[in-house]
Amino acid sequence: MFNFCPSCASKKIKFEEGKVFRCPDCGFVYYHNIAAATGCIISVPSSDHLQVVRDGAERLLFLVRGKEPAVGKLDLPGGFVDVGEGALEGLYRELREEIGWTPPVPDGAGLSSVFRLFASFSNVYEYKNIKYNTCDMYFSVSAPGLRPEGLRLEQAEVAGVRFLKPEEIDFNQFAFESTKRAVKSYLRILD
Ligand SMILES: [Zn+2]
Repeated sequence: MFNFCPSCASKKIKFEEGKVFRCPDCGFVYYHNIAAATGCIISVPSSDHLQVVRDGAERLLFLVRGKEPAVGKLDLPGGFVDVGEGALEGLYRELREEIGWTPPVPDGAGLSSVFRLFASFSNVYEYKNIKYNTCDMYFSVSAPGLRPEGLRLEQAEVAGVRFLKPEEIDFNQFAFESTKRAVKSYLRILD
């Protein structure tokens, strides 16, 4: 990532332990630490979905990606946690930005009362030849009565949404392995 020390321009800078740059000439140290990221499974109980289907199956909300990479493939709402945010605050913001919907939070209760952590994996995102090691955290939230018309999609990022029953999910249509793994974990499908 660095060919020269950002502090003294020495060429002797070393990358060690897969995470830390050290310069032997000036003592510069930089930890390229993991980034935190979230993803969310929004579950719509069957009896509430469009009120015409009462078949006992919940439906899960998926985004159809509106831009590369993997345009047209399935994804989950979520993203990187920003500086100054907790994981749940970051997720709440991403939901608001990406789909224009956030779960109601009861008075006096925190976000942890509505989101449930069900899986967490390490992952690697590569962007412009830099590899970012992440800690992905996956949460679920129940959304009784949520309908497509209750969403306001982020036009630049999201091409559409799908509400799918577990048996309707085509695992070949996922944009990212990490998301596929999370959905399988949620549905307790063993690889
Ligand atoms: Zn240096």
